[in-house]
Amino acid sequence: MISEDQARSAVLKATQLLPADTLAIASALDHFAAADIRARISLPPFDNSAMDGYAVRAADCRGGAPLRVIGEQPAGRDRALRISAGEAVRIFTGAPIPDGADAIVMQEEVSCAGETIQIKGEVKEGDFLRMSGADVAAGQKIIQSGQRLGAPQLALLAAQGLADVLTRPAPRIALISTGDELVAPGNVLQRGEIYESNLILLRALVQKCGARVASTEHCADDLKATENAFRNAAESDAIIVSGGVSVGELDFVKPALRKLEAKLDVWRVAVKPGKPFLFGRLGKCLVFGLPGNPVSAFVTFLLFVRPALLKMAGAAATDLDLIRASARLQTAIANPGNRRHYLRGRLERGNFAPTGRQESHALFSLSQANALLPMEPEETLAEGARVNVITWNHGI
Ligand code: AMP
Ligand code: MG
Repeated sequence: MISEDQARSAVLKATQLLPADTLAIASALDHFAAADIRARISLPPFDNSAMDGYAVRAADCRGGAPLRVIGEQPAGRDRALRISAGEAVRIFTGAPIPDGADAIVMQEEVSCAGETIQIKGEVKEGDFLRMSGADVAAGQKIIQSGQRLGAPQLALLAAQGLADVLTRPAPRIALISTGDELVAPGNVLQRGEIYESNLILLRALVQKCGARVASTEHCADDLKATENAFRNAAESDAIIVSGGVSVGELDFVKPALRKLEAKLDVWRVAVKPGKPFLFGRLGKCLVFGLPGNPVSAFVTFLLFVRPALLKMAGAAATDLDLIRASARLQTAIANPGNRRHYLRGRLERGNFAPTGRQESHALFSLSQANALLPMEPEETLAEGARVNVITWNHGI
């Protein structure tokens, strides 16, 4: 049995970045930049008005002197207007500043009489001007390689006039579930059978970290069937197989991988739940063997699979894990075991409490949770203790 850290390192060491490719920005949401991006143009690209109002010379406005409106500059084509002493230009938000003007007066501050305006308040040079380059200077780094392209980052690229971006594709994942006792939801259960729930669990987790499910297959507890399932799935970037990774005579994942001459890097990790976790490689395809118990599959996915999928997709090394939050423990808890135990619980307003049953099949307790508390072997924690929990506040 190896430590969680050793297992994670082995997984990440074997995980290669997918080749970079350009993608239309409209399709790039949640992909990761594959290179630093520098600004092609300054933002704003030209000095413009932050308000609907009048472009003026601040010095002309003292004492409420009347100004003559010599024209209108809407947002759009520059009408190349120019103001001289005692003049103003009617202007709109986003419109280029006429030559000679050094301030904008909001229209609410102005009274109009025909072509003449009078300004009520004080006007300072620079008022309501948005100067070229004040937000972004041409040449400045605006996106870092490995940065997630969320809505604001994509908008920034669009504002730069970029229609494409260099990213990496979403990893293509093959899902395999094993177990003769499993029946797909929607069918009738016979006594002794249970509904298959890991395929939907893993599909959701895969999608939530930006990867794509390329195929799913359910496979019987049978060596040949397991070998075939792996063969069919080996074209993908990674296979996630659930169940059949323990030591029972009906656990065929390891024997099948051996038959296929896969490289086995990790088997059995000192975490609870999730001890039988397996990691190997079938040619270039990564293979993650998760225990069949749903909570074990969930925890080992977060610990080992998610970081690898994010790395493949090009996420920065600092962004491979879920965030940790400091919390106050609401009840005393002990971990009498010899493995790190991830307790499922709820983080609310800075307090963490376990959500109920902590066995690895207890899906209801997991469904109530939004955080995991890692407890070291033989650790005891008092009520009120400060702890660090791993959280997925906004759903996973
Ligand atoms: P295994 O890892 O195959 O020994 O399975 C451990 C436990 O998880 C058993 O109780 C299985 O019935 C259950 N299990 C395995 N695979 C699934 C699955 N895909 N969906 C729901 N439960 C499963
Ligand atoms: Mg099984």
